[in-house]
Formats: sequence, C-alpha cells, structure tokens
Amino acid sequence: MTSPQKPSLAMTESGRLRNYLGKALLPAAALIYVNFSQLREFARDKVLEAAIHRDFQEMLGITEKKMNKKAYAKVEDARQMFPAPDDDGQVKEKKLDHILAECSCFAHAFLLDEDGMTFRSQPAPDEFVKKEHERLAETFKEWFGSGGVESKGFIESLHNKKQHITFYPTLSKRADGPAYVDTALFVLPDVAKDRVVVGGVSFDPCYLKSNFFPEILQDQVNQKTEEQGGTPTAMMIVPADMDSEHEMKPLVTTAGWGDGKPEIMRKMDDVFRGLSLGIKYQGTSVEELGKNWVHRSFLLLGILSVFMIGGLLLTKHVVGKEMALAKLKSDFVSNVSHELRTPLALIRLYAETLELGRITTREKKQQYYRIVRKESERLTALINNILDFSRIEAGRKEYEFRETDIGDLVHNTLDSYRYQIEQQGFAFEEKIDDNLPPVVVDREAIARAVVNLVNNALKYSDDDKFLGVKLYRDNGSVKLEVIDHGIGIARRDQSKIFEKFYRTGDPLVHNTKGSGLGLSLVRHITEAHGGEIEVESTPGKGSRFIISLPLKPHAVTSSRLTQRVSEARA
Ligand code: ADP
Repeated sequence: MTSPQKPSLAMTESGRLRNYLGKALLPAAALIYVNFSQLREFARDKVLEAAIHRDFQEMLGITEKKMNKKAYAKVEDARQMFPAPDDDGQVKEKKLDHILAECSCFAHAFLLDEDGMTFRSQPAPDEFVKKEHERLAETFKEWFGSGGVESKGFIESLHNKKQHITFYPTLSKRADGPAYVDTALFVLPDVAKDRVVVGGVSFDPCYLKSNFFPEILQDQVNQKTEEQGGTPTAMMIVPADMDSEHEMKPLVTTAGWGDGKPEIMRKMDDVFRGLSLGIKYQGTSVEELGKNWVHRSFLLLGILSVFMIGGLLLTKHVVGKEMALAKLKSDFVSNVSHELRTPLALIRLYAETLELGRITTREKKQQYYRIVRKESERLTALINNILDFSRIEAGRKEYEFRETDIGDLVHNTLDSYRYQIEQQGFAFEEKIDDNLPPVVVDREAIARAVVNLVNNALKYSDDDKFLGVKLYRDNGSVKLEVIDHGIGIARRDQSKIFEKFYRTGDPLVHNTKGSGLGLSLVRHITEAHGGEIEVESTPGKGSRFIISLPLKPHAVTSSRLTQRVSEARA
C-alpha cells in the first residue's frame, strides 16, 4: 500500500520563502550598489577635500580679522598718546619717546606737521634700525613734505575712514635677514581736517615675527583642535608679491608645520598687505586624508554588506530549517493517520468476517485471529512510539532501570516477530552470545528499540531479504547489531535519520508507511542508558545499526537521567 505524500502545502510554503528572500535580497543588493556608487562619486568629486578647503578658507579669514583687530587696537592706543602738532619740538620728541617706551612693539614713531617731521626710534638702535629710520623718515617726508594736493587728498581719505588709520608695509633688513616693517599712518584726534598733520608708528619686525604672529596663529590652531578634534592643523605666514630679489622663506610657522606646502593660501590686505597666510594639516595632506577616508568607508561598507548578506542568508537558512520541520510535521500527520487507518481497517475487516460466521475451518479462523492480533500489536507499537515521543518532547519520559538478562530480553522480543519475519521471506540470523553479564536497563524501552530497528530492516529491504541480529560483549559494553541487506542510507542522510520526523527521499521510503519517529526514539533510549547508537550503511547494499550499552551505567535515578538526557538533547 502506498502512502500519499502531502507535498503541496510545504512546497508552496518553501516557494513562498524563496520568493520572500528573493525580494529581500534584491533591495539589499540594490542598497549596497547605490552606496558603493555614491561613495565612488564622492571620491571622484573630492567632496571631502572641497569641504576641508572651505573650512580652511574660513579659518584663514578669521585669523586675519583677529590680527587686524589687535594691530588696530595697538595703533589706536598709540594714536591717543600722540603729541599735538602745536606742541613744542621737545615735547613732541618726549611724547613720541614715551610711546615707544610704553609699547616695545613699535620700532619708530613720528609726527609730520607744518613744522616738519619729528621721527623717533627705539633707543640704542643697531645699524639696520638706523638705516631703516633714515629710509622711512625720508620716504614720509617726501610724501608729505610738499603739503600739496596729494597729501591733502590722503589726509582727507584718512579722516573719512572709520578708524582714521591706514597701513603701509615695506621690506626692510635686519641682522637676521629681510624684515617686514608695517607702518600705520593716521590723522590725530582733535586736529582740524584741513591741517596737514600725520602721525605714524612702525611695528617692529622682530616683534611681529616673534610675538604678534606666532601667538595669534598658535591660538587659532589650538582652538580648532580643541573644538573639532581630529588631525591638528599648522599655519604660517609668508611674504607674497613683495619686491624681493630672493624668494622669501616663511616668516612664521606654528609647531608641526614641517616642510610641506600649504593647502590653502590667503593674501592679506588692509593691515598686513604683502603677506599671505597658509594652512595645512600636520604631517599629512588633505588629499591623503580624503583617500584614507574613502578607503575606510569602502572597507566599512564592504564589511557591512557582508554582514547584511550573511544575515539574510542566515535568516534564509533558519527559516528554511523551520519550513523543513513544518513539512516534516505535516508529512508526519499524514503518515501516522495512514498507519493508524491501515491496521484498523484490517482488524475491522477480519473481525466482521469472523462475526458473520462464514469462516468454517479452524486453521482459517486461527489465521484471521492471528492477523487481528498482529495488526493490533502494530497499532499498539505505533501508539506507544507516539506516546513515548510526546513524553520525551515534554521532558516527562521516565525509565525504570532494573538488572536484566539482556540476552533473554532480546531473544524474547525477536521471538514475537519471528513468524512475521519468516512470513515475509526474510533469511533471519540471530546470534546472541552466551554468558553475557546482566545489564541494568529499562526492559520495555530496550525492547521498543529492538522492535523499531527490526521493523526498519523489514520495511527498508527490497529483493535481498536478510535480517541479522547480534548481541555480544565488547570490552566494557554490550553491543546489539541489527543488520539488513536493504536499500541502505546515503552518507549525507546518516546523521539526519536520528532527528525527529526525518525520512530519506528514497522512493521505497516514500512508499512505506512510517512516522519518522522510530530512530529518534531509539537514540533517546540508548542515550538514557548512557550508551550510543551508530549506523554503517551503503546505499543499495544494506545497513548495520549498532547500539552500545555500557555494562556499568552511571548511578543515577531514572528521573535525573531523563533530565540529563533532555539537557544533552537540547
Ligand atoms: P520511519 O521508519 O517511521 O520513517 P525512523 O525514524 O524509524 O522512521 O527512520 C527514519 C528514516 O531512516 C526512515 O524513513 C528511512 O528513510 C531511514 N531508515 C531507517 N532504517 C533504515 C534501514 N534499515 N534501511 C534504510 N533506511 C532506513
């Protein structure tokens, strides 16, 4: 009799699963693709580099503003202290000297008025400062000496300026090389607009180089590192567009400038005309940082993609397993119903025939009774299997261990099957060693294990009908072998057949009734006895199931044993 399979439900489920995962994989792949191409575009368009450059530009702008503000403040202080054009010549000199004494940041201070020029410099000037003094004094005298239209226009423009100050940078020379002298020219407070009166102070190049610039630049660099963290920046100031014979080295650099080129340059105007500000990262370049960032992003995206795909595949695997279990369960229900229905139908048929009294011969009657008994035994075995299985699943299965003559137990169990075995045309070989020591077992459970293995050997044999049962001692254990020359089990199925509901895909298995519970029960029973079960099988040649039971099981109570086994299986 064939057992119809019930594939449609589970098959459509697994089809749906594949469909669903396909739908999940596709957007994931699209997402990964979009991210990768966006990152490539990002790298190609150098978006990061452009953003850093913008940030650098802004920082240079702020730095220049700060320098201007400080310079204006210093000049304004001096302006307020300036002598009046109507002061006595000596007073003028004294006042100018006082300004120079008050602020060592100025190298020279001078006043040009209708009386001529009063030009003072810091005391004890070296020969460079002296020359500078002469040169500057001459230059400004020439400018304003005439008191002509040009100077009047200049003075007027100073009056119109908000701060009444303008700067006039020149290149000079000092002992350590070329020097940047920045002279502020201004009109004095409280002096009539139509008078040709101009005050001036020149910032000392050494002060600018050693104090003024480094302090502001370093402050800016520190502030940026504090606020934004990351790779620290470095800044510098270099003369730009100055009439210099030699290309000048940077005037000032902050710590960590190294010898790299600036990323961004900003030509200063207003106060420090003729100088440029430069900025770069310490020890690296924006391009390098950009490349590193893109590399890291690609790597991160790669790893995330692998995780995402891995996660989806894992989900597919887990869900697939669940679906397979669902399919096994649905097959189980259909197989069990068939297995229950067949013996019941036979019992009913033979019982009704007997009831009608149509059977007259004694032998026939005996044969019918035997069939009824056999079929009810099959039914009982199946129901016992299912009950045992549900107890095991619920963790309620208990064993009653007693010292037993295992040889007797196996022989008696086989005896009740001998007729059926021979009836089905099997060559039956039973080899039970004498003098086996007594073993502590649950009799009913071991008998059930034997029956299950023997039943399988009968069910899964084709033409070569052979059943062998061996029981022997092997060192510290007793081994029970059940051998057949049947269809065998493929290697990949050999570990799975002990799982609940699992049945192989062999056509004979499909056409044979079964619940897929037998071997899972046998394994549970064996393990509850502290033993183990193995299978050796070659497809087409047959199988050998070997149960090993230890002669000295651990001294555990049955319930604890159940617990231990449930834990092991979990
Ligand atoms: P059932 O026999 O009810 O299907 P089992 O748990 O006893 O369940 O067996 C699980 C599966 O292992 C069977 O469906 C069959 O595919 C395979 N199997 C078990 N015993 C044998 C055997 N002696 N020869 C070939 N295949 C076997």
